[in-house]
Amino acid sequence: MTRQPAPAPPERTGASDASPSGNITRSWPRASAVLPITPLLRYAVARHAVPPGTARRTGCDACGASVGPHRPWPALGPTARCGGCGARVGAPPASVELAALAALAALLLSRPPAVELVTAAWWLAFALPLLFIDVAVHRLPDRLTLPAAAGTWLLLGLAAVTGAGAAPWLRAIGAGLGLALFFAATTVLLGTRGFGIGDAKLALSAGALLGWYGWSVPVLGLLLALTLSGVVALALLVSRRARLSSHLPFGPYLVLGTLGALLLVW
Ligand SMILES: [Zn+2]
Repeated sequence: MTRQPAPAPPERTGASDASPSGNITRSWPRASAVLPITPLLRYAVARHAVPPGTARRTGCDACGASVGPHRPWPALGPTARCGGCGARVGAPPASVELAALAALAALLLSRPPAVELVTAAWWLAFALPLLFIDVAVHRLPDRLTLPAAAGTWLLLGLAAVTGAGAAPWLRAIGAGLGLALFFAATTVLLGTRGFGIGDAKLALSAGALLGWYGWSVPVLGLLLALTLSGVVALALLVSRRARLSSHLPFGPYLVLGTLGALLLVW
C-alpha cells in the first residue's frame, strides 16, 4: 500500500508581505533611502545655525575648510567632523540621521494618502533642519520657514484639485494663518516672553498641515507642543540648567507636536 506524499506546504513567497511585520521589513530598505538626503539636511543646519546678523556658514569654523553639497564627506556625514582638522561641524554626530530615519519610518508605517505623504515629507525636509537650528541658536530662518509654508500650501492645493475638494484646503490655509496670527499676537503683546516671529512663520506650514484634517487637529498639535515644552522647561528649571528668565526655543516642540498630531490622525 503506497501512501500519497503529503502535499508540500504552499511556498511563502510574498505571502508574509501582507503581515504587519512584512510591512516593517519592506519599509526599512525604503527608509534607508533617506540616508543620501541627510547631508543636505546637515548642510541646511550648518549653513543657518549662526547668530543673527552673521553671514551664513560656508566652511569649518576652526580651519575654514569649505563645507557644502559639492564636498559632503566627512563634514556632512554622520560623524559631523571636518575633513581638514577634525572639528565638529553643525548638528551633533548621528543626530540628523536618526531624526530623519525616525520621521521617515513614521511616514512609511502610518501610510497617509500619496499627496499628503509627499506634503508631509516636503514639510519635514525643512522642519527637521529648523529643529536643530532653533536648538543651537534660537532662530527659525525665513530661508527655511517660508519655502516650507509655500510648498505645504501648494501641495495641499494639489491634493484639493485631485479629489479632496476645496473645503479641506481652505480650512488648512485658515488654520495656518490663524496659528501664525496667534503666535505673532503673543510676540506683540508679551515681547520676548511670547512666541517668536520665526515660530509664527513656521506655524504657517504646521497649522496648514494639521488644519487639512479638521479644526481640532491644529489645537491638538498646539497642546502637544505646549505640553512637551512645559515638561522640558520644568525639567530644566528643576535641574537648574535654566532660569525663569531663560529664553527657550519653541520651534522644536512645534515640529514634534505637529508630527505627533499627524500620527494620531493618520
Ligand atoms: Zn576644520
